[in-house]
Amino acid sequence: MFENLSSKLDKAFKTLKGQGRISDINVAATVKEIRKALVDADVNYKVAKTVTDKIRDEALGKEVLISVQPGQLLVKIVHEELTKLMGETKQDINIKGDPAIILIAGLQGSGKTTFSGKLANYLKKTGRNVLLVACDIYRPAAIDQLKVLGEQVGVEVYAEPENKNAVQIAKNAIQHAKNTNKKIVIVDTAGRLAIDEQMMREIAEVKKAIAPTETLFVVDSMTGQDAVNTAKTFNERLNFDGVVLTKLDGDSRGGAALSIRSVVEKPIKFISTGEKMEAIDLFYPDRMASRILG
Ligand code: GDP
Repeated sequence: MFENLSSKLDKAFKTLKGQGRISDINVAATVKEIRKALVDADVNYKVAKTVTDKIRDEALGKEVLISVQPGQLLVKIVHEELTKLMGETKQDINIKGDPAIILIAGLQGSGKTTFSGKLANYLKKTGRNVLLVACDIYRPAAIDQLKVLGEQVGVEVYAEPENKNAVQIAKNAIQHAKNTNKKIVIVDTAGRLAIDEQMMREIAEVKKAIAPTETLFVVDSMTGQDAVNTAKTFNERLNFDGVVLTKLDGDSRGGAALSIRSVVEKPIKFISTGEKMEAIDLFYPDRMASRILG
């Protein structure tokens, strides 16, 4: 994960020479290298500039202990700033409500259905009674896919293959959840390959009709700045609560993870790191910063 970025940052730290005090002269080249590494990682340019300006200001004038190399001190400062950039602390999802309703949105292929299965598995393991809902009215294969995942993790899947009204299906599913004493309902919605008006309208209508306790936007981290732009568009229409970053196992750059929070102003809540049902983690900004810094 993020191996390209990690090695470039490592190289940047090694350019910081000198002893005693970090000065304007010796930090400038290093900060420039850090900014370049972030931009190469597909971090939004404005974000890269703001964060590296902060890093420089923090570093300037810092007294370096005799036992510490200036490079090491800078690593600590960069760690702190990257942690802040990604939201500082872990943000939990809201699973209050009877039942709690979690709406899953995103483009087709982003990993929505896989994540829905993972989240069901994750919440089931905390002792909750979960219902998965297949609300993709365009791709019968998506319903089958969710059913397979549901079976795999031992969670019931609600579907109405003949019904072409997503709002109706979602409402019926919630009634079914109440009738069968489910405490959490996860609604997997339809996705398109690109954002289109009809898709946006449909998901906004589903959201309005079922008033979810949590709306999660799922996005493929490997798409970098596209992921950030898609998140912005979805957020404008859906006002979601959190982001799920998928396919981090294949992301060598890290631009989406680093930019999304500050561009969209919504926290990353979960990460997905593989196709297996267990490959789901809460998002800890400080741990992610440590991983990036190697
Ligand atoms: P959807 O169209 O948004 O529902 O996307 P899917 O859940 O069908 O996922 C699309 C493809 O990405 C499938 O082949 C998944 O197995 C794969 N996938 C999903 N999440 C991950 C992940 O975190 N890592 C990797 N490597 N593959 C993933």
